[in-house]
Amino acid sequence: MTATPVIDGWFTTGDEPHLLASRCTTCRNVVFPPVSSDAGAAAFYCRNPACDGEAHESVELSRRGTVWSYTDAQYQPPAPYVPASDPYQPFALAAVELPEGLVVLGQVADGFGVADLKVGAEVELVIETLHADESGERTTYRWKPVSA
Ligand SMILES: [Zn+2]
Repeated sequence: MTATPVIDGWFTTGDEPHLLASRCTTCRNVVFPPVSSDAGAAAFYCRNPACDGEAHESVELSRRGTVWSYTDAQYQPPAPYVPASDPYQPFALAAVELPEGLVVLGQVADGFGVADLKVGAEVELVIETLHADESGERTTYRWKPVSA
């Protein structure tokens, strides 16, 4: 069975996965998700209002950050959400502040919930299965509490 990232180009896989971001080559401002080079004819301008930069390079973000905020999804999201279980099981979401200065929202690793989270606590990026069927496995990034 093949494992494929659910979104292409947002993260690397393997033993030490990283989120992929774009960094402005002029002012070094970092954005996630990364800028797509095939976004069409329009140039992508830097999001820093004080910068005229258009060129970006791909960078790997730090694997560890600290919990900025968190919650749990008590209600099933609407379609096209594919429930991982039936009946629906709430899952935790964490907004994680990275050393690069961004806050990245993501699900919390399997087996962990809001009781395992605390603002300021350290978490680490892991890659887990989001959905699997006869066509293969689809993976996504999640935040795993480091103390666990
Ligand atoms: Zn810039």
